[in-house]
Amino acid sequence: MIKDCLLDYNLSQLADRLAQYQLKSYQISQIYQWLIKGVDFLQMTNLPKALREQLANDYDSASVRVIKTLTSTDSTTKYLMQLRDDNVIECVVMKYKYGNTLCISTQVGCRMGCAFCASTLGGLVRNLSAGEMLGQVVVANKLHHSAQSRGITNIVLMGSGEPLDNYDNVLSFLTLVNAQEGLNISMRNISLSTCGLVPQINKLAECRLGVNLTISLHSAFDDSRRKIMPIANKYSISQIINSAKYYFECTGRRVIFEYTLIEGVNDRREDALQLARLLSGMSAHVNLIRLNQVKERHLTATTTDKAKEFLALLEQLHLSATLRRSMGGDIAGACGQLRYSYINTNADRNTDNNGDSDNNNS
Ligand code: SAH
Repeated sequence: MIKDCLLDYNLSQLADRLAQYQLKSYQISQIYQWLIKGVDFLQMTNLPKALREQLANDYDSASVRVIKTLTSTDSTTKYLMQLRDDNVIECVVMKYKYGNTLCISTQVGCRMGCAFCASTLGGLVRNLSAGEMLGQVVVANKLHHSAQSRGITNIVLMGSGEPLDNYDNVLSFLTLVNAQEGLNISMRNISLSTCGLVPQINKLAECRLGVNLTISLHSAFDDSRRKIMPIANKYSISQIINSAKYYFECTGRRVIFEYTLIEGVNDRREDALQLARLLSGMSAHVNLIRLNQVKERHLTATTTDKAKEFLALLEQLHLSATLRRSMGGDIAGACGQLRYSYINTNADRNTDNNGDSDNNNS
């Protein structure tokens, strides 16, 4: 049976959880501090040994563990992490001058079905709990923390999964990671990326958390967007733009639009013109990125030269835009690629071992 994991709780919930041990409140705080530093119960050296053993017996202190690490030539590090039910997820640390950004997963798999994305290839397996999202931060923070480095300074919810399809747990995670007595990562340093679930964007706006919002737009025309993003059949671009404006109104945060450049799909001159028309007068920014080609998806990246032309055209049209470097291309950098190759290799192994074709690639 899987034990209760204490990373799911904030400080006051932790006190309730551990009420049966009749601890002093400073001991609850000590446990909490160890938990967010990623320390095992038995190593919680300022607690009595018997208590440490009791806690280790009754609870889990960690929600994820690293089973594979890949470091790219551009010093992006990708971690494959195992959850306590043996599912695997991935997260990535990108090093920038200002600090380390961690990209976390919010679901095991994804059900959004975007045509260019590896995360959705096996569908949705399950939502992650708040503690499983926090666990990725705790582990990465521990690995990257040193005398010279502050560990993780920024977080993007841009790994596998659709965060707004796991709304309640994502909101609890944001509160946990932002808690002053916890990791205390400012909402200004956190970005949530969505494929455009309009009602949830509006709900998030009304929470006024001030987390940065990124919307994966990928086309300024509804018909081409429908070809690459099934969610476009449910919400139109004009509904998305209204929600983005509402988000800005409620939070004062400029909305960022992700735009993955795909050869012949969304990289024509008229695509840039329409994008500029759509966003004109808005407090918005466009992040262009060339498609990270996924073997199972038959789409081609726009050439670097063409991507630069697309950017220049947007700038001419007075749109704030950048062409992002695609990081970690040599280590299955795109969303869900590493997990997908891992579960497939394991499924092959299972099939080899027991001749059973009913693999775990669900
Ligand atoms: N579901 C959320 C967050 C996960 S995807 C969303 O859709 O925003 C994070 C970002 O990576 C999205 O902008 C997504 O469109 C983009 N992405 C996914 N696969 C990609 C690929 N192969 N190449 C480039 N960008 C990709």
